[in-house]
Amino acid sequence: MYSVSQARRLRLSTLFAEVEDQLLMAHRKQEVESQVRDDRTKRDLHALSPDGMLVCNPRDREAAHRAQVEGIATENLAAVTCKRCRSLISGPDRQAKSGGKIP
Ligand SMILES: [Zn+2]
Repeated sequence: MYSVSQARRLRLSTLFAEVEDQLLMAHRKQEVESQVRDDRTKRDLHALSPDGMLVCNPRDREAAHRAQVEGIATENLAAVTCKRCRSLISGPDRQAKSGGKIP
């Protein structure tokens, strides 16, 4: 049987707490729905930067690798469901750049 706590501990060592929270929520949902649904469709999809890093966790190469292995990272920005990735892709930062003066 799949151990949620083991997987959680493994991820804690490499992912940011924020990402961990999202995975934890996905796991809780998964526990309820695992009998009828494929959990992979329930997890947040993170955006991959051109460098192959997670947009919401650009400093952690290991996290990016894990996300790719687990199939929760994509270069298709339209498919991204991670709130943090999405806000970083099209959030206030980008608006500020396009709206601000270019020196
Ligand atoms: Zn993300």
